[in-house]
Amino acid sequence: MDTYITTPIFYVNAQPHLGHAFTTIVADTYCRYRRLCGDEVMFQTGTDEHGEKIVQAAQGAGVSPREYVDRISLMFRETWPLLAIKPDNFIRTTDPVHIKTVQDILQKVYNQGDIYFSEYSGLYCRGCERFLTEKELVDGKCPDHQVAPEPITEQNYFFRMSKYQQWLIDHINNHPEFITPERYRNEVLSFLKEPLEDLCISRPTSRLTWGIPLPFDDRFVTYVWFDALINYLTGIGYPGGENFSRYWAVAEHIIAKDILKPHAIYWPTMLCSIGLVPYKKLHVHGYWNIGETKMSKSLGNVVRPAEMVEAYGADTVRYFLLREMSFGLDSGYSADALLIRQNSDLANDLGNLFSRSLTMVAKFAGSRVPAAGTPTEIDRELRDAAMTMIDTYRREMDHFAFNRALAAVWEVISRANKYIVENAPWDLAKDADKRERLDTVFYYLLETLRLISLTIEPVMPATAVKMRQALGLGHEPDLTTQATWGLLAPQSVITLPEALFPRLDTGKKKKTGPAQAGDKPLKTMTPTENPEDENLISFDEFKKIDLRVAEIVAAEKIKKSDRLLKLTVMAPEERTIVAGIAEFYEPEQVVGKQVIIVANLKPTKLMGIASHGMVLAIKDKGSLSLSAVSSQVTPGSKVS
Ligand SMILES: [Zn+2]
Repeated sequence: MDTYITTPIFYVNAQPHLGHAFTTIVADTYCRYRRLCGDEVMFQTGTDEHGEKIVQAAQGAGVSPREYVDRISLMFRETWPLLAIKPDNFIRTTDPVHIKTVQDILQKVYNQGDIYFSEYSGLYCRGCERFLTEKELVDGKCPDHQVAPEPITEQNYFFRMSKYQQWLIDHINNHPEFITPERYRNEVLSFLKEPLEDLCISRPTSRLTWGIPLPFDDRFVTYVWFDALINYLTGIGYPGGENFSRYWAVAEHIIAKDILKPHAIYWPTMLCSIGLVPYKKLHVHGYWNIGETKMSKSLGNVVRPAEMVEAYGADTVRYFLLREMSFGLDSGYSADALLIRQNSDLANDLGNLFSRSLTMVAKFAGSRVPAAGTPTEIDRELRDAAMTMIDTYRREMDHFAFNRALAAVWEVISRANKYIVENAPWDLAKDADKRERLDTVFYYLLETLRLISLTIEPVMPATAVKMRQALGLGHEPDLTTQATWGLLAPQSVITLPEALFPRLDTGKKKKTGPAQAGDKPLKTMTPTENPEDENLISFDEFKKIDLRVAEIVAAEKIKKSDRLLKLTVMAPEERTIVAGIAEFYEPEQVVGKQVIIVANLKPTKLMGIASHGMVLAIKDKGSLSLSAVSSQVTPGSKVS
């Protein structure tokens, strides 16, 4: 199947920020995923370079518009490789081929009578570069720019958008997946309940010259949105190009919700007027908030992609953004949350599973993939979990539910970590009679890791390459042929990898962007207000507390309790602890984690279950974080 994936072309009145990066990471990830599924994919991004705001920004920078757009466009072009983003085409609306395409389309639409000349009086917002309706104003001001729009009367050209209103409503109703997620489809349909006004598509050159001249009247340039949307056609060679006939019908646009209206209303009606079928799908995502507020230049809390990559690496940034945001909804960015994902999900869960497994195969199996013996129930369970992961992953990736796709992968990572503890290969290795059992355990682990490496390729391409190299896999990853169990060839050689993810020190984390409200160190030393002896304990008293590292091997919810999880831990013996963490952790999130427990607390019954010990956790501003050890240790190790 062919797929054509686009980001919006980004407006060059500002440098690339987190929002641009997210849209483009989503596009790149989806593109890699479709290729992994065997599709031919065309991926386009670029920059939008005309309009009044560009002229103003250039004036502010003291350069010509041309110099200005060249400079900022280059910044976008140079940012994407830092994030491992590989577009097939980078389009600029100042490209001569694009200017010609826009003029040809304007002439065509004009010739058939869908563009007319008229006088218009209205309230014009320079920030928005359009006329606002009375309804859109808040206290007489543009809500986005906080300035009162200017009353302007001028003659302009208009596109008969209203003519296509009923057609658009019918199209959306007949194609449930045309605009996704559903909340945005509903938003558009609700907007279309009101009569659609025609779209002003010109600006007089007396006011603006930095734009594409109308082919039928050189006293006007083209309104920036009418120009910009056409990039999706120019990039694939409309009207005569081979790529156009191949890719247009399968176009999928990815945008942030602020530009829903131009993409869901202007664009399909323009296409209908041109005589083209509409794009196939519009995928709409929400905003990234910084702390509690929206990211904005005026607030000075803009997060720059290049700085994020420098601090954490491209794969971590990609993983974090895709894991953290539920596609379509707003999400919060904080350096703390990123650091926790890096240390917990990546360094601890995936990184440790991978290095532990390969280190043991190197040590106990001479760095060769052993042949599996007869599987037992526990092996079949791991295999089934891995195969279910592939199904869930594909289903969720198909629907842009990247967070759920990754959660399914991390469930299996936890399962595999637990599988190691349950099978204790280090014990099996001591007994020559258990050789076949040991080989089976290793084979099942390595095969699970191979499948995991396939699923993370679209999200963390560099990590996937490292995993595949260490596992001795030569060929390119391919979900259509390699997502079956048992393809890892016995006797093939594995190599010990370098650590997949460094564990970052929470105290020394690098700065990304300006200081943020959520950026406080995870732990702060608070001097006691009354440091009298009564607050202190003696060393002998401290020694009475048996603190140990426990590895969580199983976790389940407790019926009728929203707060409690029943944990099975190894410390080193197996024991049950009931912990009040259910509001903050799903059972599958804690399995495989090493935590610190108070091991000699008197047993107590909670909801009818005997709890032997207490898990230490940190409460912080309404959230909760489990205690952790900085590197994997033997379960049961004493903390002193
Ligand atoms: Zn405005």
